Amino acid sequence: MPAQEIKSVVIAGGGTAGWMAAAAIAKVMGPRLSITLVESDEIGIIGVGEATIPSIALYNDLLRLDENDFLRQTQGTFKLGIEFVNWYEPGHRYMHAFGAIGKDLAYIPFHHYWLQEVLQGRGESLWHYSLNWMAAHQDRFARLERIADTPLPGVIYAFHFDASLYAAYLRRLAQQMGVRRVEGMIAEVLQNPESGDVSALRLKDGREISGELFIDCTGFRGLLIERTLKVGYDDWTPWLPVDRALAIPTERVGPLTPYTRSTALEAGWQWRIPLQHRTGNGHVYSSAFVDDDRAAELLIANLDSRPLADPRPIRFVTGRRRQLWSHNVVCLGLASGFLEPLESTAIHLIQANIQRLVLLFPHHGDCDHRRAQFNQAAAAEYEYVRDFIILHYYLNNRVGERFWDECRHMSVPDSLTHKIELFRETGGIFPTMYDLFHLTSWLQVMWGQGVRPRGAHPFVQTVAPHDRVEYLKNIRDLIAQAASELPLHDEFIARHCRAPAPAAAVT
Ligand SMILES: Cc1cc2nc3c(=O)[nH]c(=O)nc-3n(C[C@H](O)[C@H](O)[C@H](O)COP(=O)(O)OP(=O)(O)OC[C@H]3O[C@@H](n4cnc5c(N)ncnc54)[C@H](O)[C@@H]3O)c2cc1C
Repeated sequence: MPAQEIKSVVIAGGGTAGWMAAAAIAKVMGPRLSITLVESDEIGIIGVGEATIPSIALYNDLLRLDENDFLRQTQGTFKLGIEFVNWYEPGHRYMHAFGAIGKDLAYIPFHHYWLQEVLQGRGESLWHYSLNWMAAHQDRFARLERIADTPLPGVIYAFHFDASLYAAYLRRLAQQMGVRRVEGMIAEVLQNPESGDVSALRLKDGREISGELFIDCTGFRGLLIERTLKVGYDDWTPWLPVDRALAIPTERVGPLTPYTRSTALEAGWQWRIPLQHRTGNGHVYSSAFVDDDRAAELLIANLDSRPLADPRPIRFVTGRRRQLWSHNVVCLGLASGFLEPLESTAIHLIQANIQRLVLLFPHHGDCDHRRAQFNQAAAAEYEYVRDFIILHYYLNNRVGERFWDECRHMSVPDSLTHKIELFRETGGIFPTMYDLFHLTSWLQVMWGQGVRPRGAHPFVQTVAPHDRVEYLKNIRDLIAQAASELPLHDEFIARHCRAPAPAAAVT
């Protein structure tokens, strides 16, 4: 990349990734940069990606979004976690709820105090110490910073929204901030013959869009990062064998559940995302274990309302580009790789990489160290998310089902084995710097998927048994009381952010 001042940024692609990047960069560096986004209506966007995690608040804060307006315009609902049905074994369910579990005491995380009781056959389930679970369980929601008159944190939430409306919403914001939108099909990516840097995008009609820094948001195609720069792809299919999805919208059903549901099926799983105007559903599966007809049959059989369209097929290869920043091209979204949507992490990864790019932005074109830092951090974050997703498949007890038996017997990354064994041995969980998921996330999924530690940390015994029991009971009671006082999710939406009835299209 030449050492020249960066004055113009070109974003190729206008899906969620492209418009998220355009809006954020315009907000932070708008007046100093000219930003152009090229997209093709003929190709369109992937149109899935409708569940998020709480870190999206950071992005919304950056743009200073009015949250109620954002939900109204995207037919959005609130999300308190993900319910996993039949994952450990048929008939079993648990939740990965966002937010705190109990309250840590002294040096020791809360769950050790709980574990001490539970391993002796006493105490309530882990989720009775989660305000998010308590609220989700009763279809309740409100914005609550903390439980009044206590040190206990409040409700931690994310959103569900309509992916097409979200991209359109961000497009309006970005254009208001001066982003130039060019409609057209990119036919050729031009490179500087000496440096190999990308110099311009040539459109089908002959127009050329030149710039100094390019952001590849062209989806699975990866037009710049892969087809042009050929950075290579790490295929993670051996660990995450699902490779196809069928997406289908269905009629809205009430009450609006404030959580995503993931139900394990024969050779994959089905998502259910409640929106104000419809429900989003999809079946993610492994084509090596189930054919497309059977996958559609399973999906349809497991819907809880009338389909509004035919199932739409999507194919993918799970993995990650070997470099997310090469030459003067940074890739985001599906162009950067794909991790299945089990934990709704893709939009977070887009946002995290936008933040990284902003922090490391090569204002003067000087970028070897910046690029190396970006690539290292982005790769590490991807790998931590990968391990967390593998965990759900690996720790299953669906004995006698071909797909699940293979998952249970696969050899997993050493980093994951280490986390599971450490938890078994010590009851401890030690997420590291780039680990998106914190202790409470790992705890819920490991416990939910059947891992049982040998014991709690011995330090908990320095608190007298009677005091420990009282401590747990107080927290449980405070959480139960606070949850019961929250309004119903439906009521909260009706009062604060009810969306207009959609005009026509619902997909
Ligand atoms: C089945 C499935 C379910 C998912 N669920 C979730 C979820 O619940 N939560 C989550 O966070 N993420 C989810 N994701 C991921 C999420 O959908 C994507 O990360 C997100 O939508 C970003 O997509 P994108 O913008 O990278 O790509 P796209 O939406 O595919 O956009 C690509 C853009 O590039 C343009 N383009 C491509 N080629 C050209 C060309 N030659 N000329 C001009 N323009 C071009 C297209 O027109 C389009 O504008 C899911 C993904 C899949 C496959």
